[in-house]
Amino acid sequence: MSDVSRAVSRGANFPAFGEYNEAVILDAVRRAASDISRVELAQITGLSAQTVSKVTRRLISAGIVREKGTVSNGPGKPRTILELDAKRYYAVGVHLDPAVLTCVLLDLVGGVVARRSVDLREQAKPDALIGRITDVIDDVVASVGIEEARVLGVGIASPGPLDSRTGIVSHPPHLREWGTVPLRAALIEKTGYSVLVERDVTAAVVAELWAPVDDAVADFLFLYYGTGVNAGIALGRDVVRGVNGRAGAAGHVSTGPGGEPCFCGRDGCLDSTCTPEIVVRKARDLGLLPSRADGAEGSASSLLADMTALVAQVRENPQGPAATLLAETGRRIGRAVATLVAVIDVTRVVLGGPFWEVAESALVESLQSVLRTDAALHARGRIEIVGAAVGTDVAATGAACLVLDNAFSRRPSSILLAP
Ligand SMILES: [Zn+2]
Repeated sequence: MSDVSRAVSRGANFPAFGEYNEAVILDAVRRAASDISRVELAQITGLSAQTVSKVTRRLISAGIVREKGTVSNGPGKPRTILELDAKRYYAVGVHLDPAVLTCVLLDLVGGVVARRSVDLREQAKPDALIGRITDVIDDVVASVGIEEARVLGVGIASPGPLDSRTGIVSHPPHLREWGTVPLRAALIEKTGYSVLVERDVTAAVVAELWAPVDDAVADFLFLYYGTGVNAGIALGRDVVRGVNGRAGAAGHVSTGPGGEPCFCGRDGCLDSTCTPEIVVRKARDLGLLPSRADGAEGSASSLLADMTALVAQVRENPQGPAATLLAETGRRIGRAVATLVAVIDVTRVVLGGPFWEVAESALVESLQSVLRTDAALHARGRIEIVGAAVGTDVAATGAACLVLDNAFSRRPSSILLAP
């Protein structure tokens, strides 16, 4: 058995492709924008030609890298082009959203090979939900007909609060049956795979970093409009986690004067004015939505349905009260984003998340106009505002990318180990 395949199958530990040099070379091959040979690999990685040759031989015999053909540029020996064998290994990503469970299977270069989603309309106790997560993972892997040994692991994108080092989720809002759940340990036991758990917004940032957009996009703020509103930060192509894994937790950033009081003692926080739950409550107070008699008030799936209904009202009547409410919400989110952009000093804002998917058309204009004119951004140059490169599945995809990132990791310290 080669070093590489031993690394992949070493049981409880989260798999990584062999040693530091293997990871460096694999990462360079995966990121290569054009044909890459051993010559360029030595230039990019700073490894000697001899080392590159030795390591690529190992990677080829392990079936992770293959030779794609040769090209010659003028005189001299033709270069042999190397590429990843994308279908050699796979990673599973799961987004545990309170309303819907999404599962994707990615190949080694981040291509989506299979996906499933399951409605979570009724509130489930942790054991039942963990059982459903296990079933959907097995279903996705079976649908492609691959052996389990070729699955590197499972990434779970979960709403916080959570500790990504232990994989323990504590009292997530909208999962009312949940107290403190050792999600990672439970899923390792149930599925037999290596498992990592990350905040949904962190996973979304990672998906954006993996997406094949302009390589110059290294620094951005990701505004994630889910059941909560949060920001994710990427600097220098790395996701910023912070000491407690909560960098970008933006709930108490001000959205401007005149906002609702927040439990933190301030007025007009993002959390007290702009979450889908608050917006839907304001719409109900204005008589724009009927009150719910089915007891589903505030559940994540009813929130999505209510937000969808509000956005439909905006389409029907662009000058009506629903439009005014959502434009004001967009303006308030814009002010909070402007503050964050000014603090971390980026020029790109990426917008995404399940509620953004639904409400973008009703929020984006007022949000954009704030970002263009807010005095907090004076002399910063143009702020670029874009939708997430990956759509609805952004958090699930990002969770699977985290598994791939671990496999390709250049930093041994970032390899997450199962307990
Ligand atoms: Zn607050």
